[in-house]
This record gives sequence, structure tokens and C-alpha cells, in this order.
Amino acid sequence: MHQSTMNRHIQNKWQKMFFLPFIFLLFMLSFISCKKTNNSVSFIALGTSCKISLPVYDSKLQKYVNFIYDEDDRLSYRKENSEIAFINKNAGKAETVVSENTYNLIKRAVNLCYETDGAFNPLLLPVIREWGFDNGEYRVPTDGEIEEALKLTHIEDLVLNDEKKSVFLKKEGMGLDLGGIAKGYVSDELYRMFIEDGIKSGTLNLGGNVFVFGDKDYKVAIQKPYGQRGEYDIVETVKNQAVITSGAYERYFEKDGKTYHHIIDPSTGFPSKIIYNSVTIISNDSTLSDALSTAIFIKGDELISKEKLLHSDIKVVTQ
Ligand code: AMP
Ligand code: MG
Repeated sequence: MHQSTMNRHIQNKWQKMFFLPFIFLLFMLSFISCKKTNNSVSFIALGTSCKISLPVYDSKLQKYVNFIYDEDDRLSYRKENSEIAFINKNAGKAETVVSENTYNLIKRAVNLCYETDGAFNPLLLPVIREWGFDNGEYRVPTDGEIEEALKLTHIEDLVLNDEKKSVFLKKEGMGLDLGGIAKGYVSDELYRMFIEDGIKSGTLNLGGNVFVFGDKDYKVAIQKPYGQRGEYDIVETVKNQAVITSGAYERYFEKDGKTYHHIIDPSTGFPSKIIYNSVTIISNDSTLSDALSTAIFIKGDELISKEKLLHSDIKVVTQ
């Protein structure tokens, strides 16, 4: 071998001997540090603050954030081009064909309306608009206005067509609002994605609605109603479960010394009476937990016993 080629060969050999283990060590360190500890991302979506924590590299988290943004764009009645906005614009005029996922969620919401004896009602938007909870221009409507709006909230006036995957609101002025179930649904969908992607543990927090998964137990603190953000009296130990809370303290306004909150009793059109300051449902089905937390907040004990009979594995925590 030529002298200079041989020198280069020796040099390369030394470089390899020195650098390869070094590179390997670096790789292992980054692998260990990123795999063992969760990476988190916080952002605003679904009208609230969200946080995803998973044992994956930062760059992989963006996929799930984008998924939540897309779901928000599809499901929020406030977004002009959402599927729900189209259904609402067509109320009283025409049926709207929607994506399979949206169709299935609406169908589930309708079934949960029947199951909760009407306490969970995804058609309350006309009433919600009267109170200004849709746009933040709060007001106290007259009894006559509420009476008129309530006429547009009958679940029988929502027509589903399984074959066409179409939704039709029979009367003009009717409106779908999935705000009482969407966060739970998005958690369930994300969990399915995590499993598909081979992610074995993690936590999700969509505006205080928590979902934890993996082999280990997690301790989840439940917000103290009317306390400081993050203040708590109750801590639940959960595993592969959703912990979803509804409370009057989440959104409300005050007028003439009275407080009006955002959870509407469909039988009166008024903010529901306060039986408990908050209702938390723990189960392995986030969509169910979300709808039930809203419904049981309104109906209290009579619905708790019925739902416990229907779903033996739910846990209800009231404060
Ligand atoms: P949550 O925070 O899950 O209890 O849901 C409350 C949100 O659901 C409200 O902001 C409304 O958009 C909607 N909502 C209010 N009252 C009801 C109800 N009785 N049934 C279903 N959704 C409701
Ligand atoms: Mg809910």
C-alpha cells in the first residue's frame, strides 16, 4: 500500500475506533433520556388549554397536536366551515352528509341523550345563544325567549340516515353543539392513535379532562370547585382511565348579583340548579365520561344510580 494511503487508512481506523463508541454513547444517552421521561406540549384548542405528555421525541408530538386542531375544525359549531356549522346552517332546509367519524359521534350523542333521560342534550344551542354563551355576549333572556328556544331542542327533530351518513335538523333555528362531549371523544381517538403508533404510556389533559394510559397507576388530582387553578382536596388513583369533570365554576357570568353558569338544564332552559359543585366521572371510555359528567351535574343522584347499573365500571366523584 502507498505510504500516504496507508497513513490515511490508519488515521480513519483511529477516528472510527475513537468516534464510533462516542457516537453510540451519545445515541444511547439521547435514547434513554427521551424514552424514559415524557416530553410534553401545551397549546390552546377545543376552546381550552391542552397538554399532551408522551415518552416520544418532541418532533413526534406535533402529529397529535395537529390532530386535535383538525378535530376542533371539524366539530366546533363556532368554526364557520366545520361539519357541525354546515348541519346548523342547513337546519330546516336540507340534510347534510358528514364524515363517518362525525356521524358516529352525533349518533352516540343522540343515544346518550335518551340514556340520560334528556339531561345530556346536544341540541341546546338555541338556548345557549339566548344566554350568550356561544359568543361571550352574556345576557339573561326573558321567559318567553327561553320558551321559544326550547321548542327547537327536541331530540326527535334530529334525523339520522345511517346509509347516507346524513344529519338533518328539522326546524330552522335548531343547532347542534357537541361541546359537552367533544373533549372526551378526542381523548378516545388520540388514545387509539397512540396504541396504533406503539406508544405504551402517557397522559392527556384537555382543559382539565384527563386521560392516562399505560401499565402503571397514576395519581390524578381533581380540581377543587371555586378554588385556585390546581388546588385540590381529592386525589384518585387511576390506570388506563379518563377522569372528566363538569362544574359550574368553569364558565359563568354575573348579572344583578346572580350567577349564571354554562351547563343548561334542558327541562327549564336555565343554568341547572347546583346539586354538586362538580361531578367527575372516571371510566375507560372518555366520551361516555364526558357526556355523563354533564348529565349527572344536572340530574344528580337519580341519574347516578341509573348510570351505575348501565355501566358497572364507572366511578362517580362528587364535590
Ligand atoms: P362540560 O364542560 O363537558 O360539562 O360541557 C359543557 C358544555 O356543553 C357547555 O359549554 C355547552 O356547550 C354544552 N352543554 C351545556 N348544557 C348541556 C347539556 N345539558 N347537554 C349537553 N351539552 C350541554
Ligand atoms: Mg361533559
